[in-house]
Amino acid sequence: MSDIIYLLPDAVANQIAAGEVIQRPASVVKELVENAIDAGATHIKIAIADAGRTMIQVVDNGKGMSETDARMAFERHATSKIKDANDLFSIRTMGFRGEALASIASVAQVELRTKRDEDELGTFIEIAGNRVFRQEVVQCDLGTSILVKNLFFNIPARRRFLKSDNVERNHILQEFYRIVLVHPDIEFSFYDNEHEIFNLAVSSLKPRIEQVFGSARRKLNHQLLNIQTQTNLVSISGFVGKPEFALKQAYQFFFVNGRYMRHPYFNKAVIMAYDQLIQANEYPSYFIYFDVDPQTIDINIHPTKTEIKFENEQAIWSILSATVKEALGKFNIMPSIDFDREGVPDIPPVSLSKTNIQPPQTTFNPSYNPFSIGSSSYKRPQMEWEELYKGFEKTPEKAEDELAQSPLQEQKSFGELAIDESENLGSFFQLKGSYIVTSVKSGMLVIDQRRAHIRILFDQFIQEIKQKQGVSQRLLFPESLSFMPEDHAFFEQIKPELRYLGFEFTYKKANHYQVLGIPAQLQTTSLIVPLLNDMVERVKNCTGEALDIVHEQIAISLAETAAIAHGLILSKDAMQELFQQLFANPNHHYTPDGKTIMIILSEDEIKNRFK
Ligand code: ADP
Ligand code: MG
Repeated sequence: MSDIIYLLPDAVANQIAAGEVIQRPASVVKELVENAIDAGATHIKIAIADAGRTMIQVVDNGKGMSETDARMAFERHATSKIKDANDLFSIRTMGFRGEALASIASVAQVELRTKRDEDELGTFIEIAGNRVFRQEVVQCDLGTSILVKNLFFNIPARRRFLKSDNVERNHILQEFYRIVLVHPDIEFSFYDNEHEIFNLAVSSLKPRIEQVFGSARRKLNHQLLNIQTQTNLVSISGFVGKPEFALKQAYQFFFVNGRYMRHPYFNKAVIMAYDQLIQANEYPSYFIYFDVDPQTIDINIHPTKTEIKFENEQAIWSILSATVKEALGKFNIMPSIDFDREGVPDIPPVSLSKTNIQPPQTTFNPSYNPFSIGSSSYKRPQMEWEELYKGFEKTPEKAEDELAQSPLQEQKSFGELAIDESENLGSFFQLKGSYIVTSVKSGMLVIDQRRAHIRILFDQFIQEIKQKQGVSQRLLFPESLSFMPEDHAFFEQIKPELRYLGFEFTYKKANHYQVLGIPAQLQTTSLIVPLLNDMVERVKNCTGEALDIVHEQIAISLAETAAIAHGLILSKDAMQELFQQLFANPNHHYTPDGKTIMIILSEDEIKNRFK
């Protein structure tokens, strides 16, 4: 039998490698921008079209490449950044594998223009599927411009594997944040389908964070606490959010030696430092920068891996935990820990993480968000009707009897909860401004007034969206509204549905709108902007993109905003009205997110208490 093992041709080998390095448009953006940074650029411009599917361009003013280097750059394992294996342990550049350009050129159509300062003319190379189509001398600016068109044009399977434009754009933005947050000394601009969505001037770190994540509404400047620690093992610096700035979707970034990393173990150290300070379903934002000796970490695990292995993980955990706690003021009562001691690490990791240090037990919650009543992980409630009716079984004839006697139209749906008309027909009593109490055949019925109203409104809003018939009220003073670029797409997604409910918007400029009209049911204008942000947040967190789920999320959010509050005193008529509307609704036992609306204290239970 003849030999059967062949060496793969370069083009095939590159395509295989590309599968590892280039998984989606965001990987291309990451690799190209990192190259620009390694080339010493001070201004980097990124442009994408169709979430990077059809076009990604990165233009830098870095040092450029010679004619030969430009051609070499597309060869596999061609790099100017390391020369031998020893260099691997002292990497300070973003790239070093020499795989990115070769991989990109094997799965896309690439045009490169590059010129060094010392050269009169630059080089132009057109390459696609690893075949060079053109190489010529051109007039161009100092630096490098790389245009990547039709990613995966030659691999339909990978093209199909890509997610929706929203998802792919979001991946690109995440990569963008990870880079711009370590390079405030570099100017970045970002164009999405020709709209400029970021223009980040050179600044220091805090203003850069503010430029990216702040807004007129969210003044980040006042919400970040400085952290700073120097030890022999590690320097930690950056910012952590004040507890009241906790969000359901927080901004959480770790960087080590100028490189983004994920580190679930260190994340835990930060989260635990906030223990008792923030609500269960909210998270702190943080931007934390570690500096360590490159010899003590391993970044060579995988080309796209963002997990990084630390030699002194335990000790760094403790230092991080102490640093964050100190910033949060948890150590105010304790002597502050002196990290400048010689011979680190002798900070006992266990004693720091599990000490008897008592965090201040204040119950402050200045960021209480009236829109977050529902849990964000919405689940359709399992309605166990039978359970509720246990012990109340009656014969069908008897139930019909009651029906016939009742003066109330909606009695039909009251079922076993028929009002006890013999005693106090339609008599309602409000308890603590929050609960409506009335007598029913089987005992005492207590209704949570706010939850009841949420249920009623929710069903109304769902109807309005489906039938496209919401009533609008014009605002005297339009409210302005803006979104983060990655949220913008989600807002666009729900905008038509919001119209059906009575919202009216005009588009001002990139990511900015004005609200001109709102649903008639909304009593107050001050809640509109948080409401719309809450809706976007909910839709973002939906697992599917099914329209029904989107409708539900919008309706819940709106119902929670428009519903009457606890503590609102209701007239007898208002209570009766609410009661009737609630029972006209077949789902009167639970709110749309599954909370109990009413309880019944049975006559037997009451009797028992008097025994
Ligand atoms: P790596 O970055 O790992 O070295 P790449 O394939 O990304 O590998 O790039 C190969 C080489 O091409 C780099 O080492 C660098 O010399 C050169 N290069 C790539 N992009 C640029 C750029 N924007 N400016 C200057 N040189 C570049
Ligand atoms: Mg590179």
